[in-house]
Amino acid sequence: MKCRLLREESTNPCEEYPGVWRCRACGATGEGPKIERCPECGSPVGQRSGRIPAGTVLENNQAHILVKMGIATPEDEECTRAAGMTPSQMTDAQHAQEKVRRGIHPDDYEAYDAGVMVGYKPDGSFIPGPNYLDSVVEENRKHGPIIVEDE
Ligand SMILES: [Zn+2]
Repeated sequence: MKCRLLREESTNPCEEYPGVWRCRACGATGEGPKIERCPECGSPVGQRSGRIPAGTVLENNQAHILVKMGIATPEDEECTRAAGMTPSQMTDAQHAQEKVRRGIHPDDYEAYDAGVMVGYKPDGSFIPGPNYLDSVVEENRKHGPIIVEDE
């Protein structure tokens, strides 16, 4: 069964996968067994790259596990069946994976899911998400306007 990687992976998620190559001269990449010369420019291709580009289709009997982990989408019927997930479950798994990659603390999952934050600054404060301002406005509304009394 086959799945398609959603992002570049630094290591091969499937141990049996033969790997990819990358031409240092022209940047061409491909998947499959090691080749001697780049088919694009003819330069010798040295070692295989450890990195696997986003969009690479992996053929593996564990492909459905990558789908369940939210790092790949099914590429054939067999993988779709084995994963047994609805499109929304797959989206949820991908979001969960994204949170892990960004190092979001479980306490902040709610804020992340609401688009309030997308990560942390070095001092630990939130990197604002698309809905950050809305949450500040909402927070002010809940606590009411700040009344400054004249002395
Ligand atoms: Zn090349």
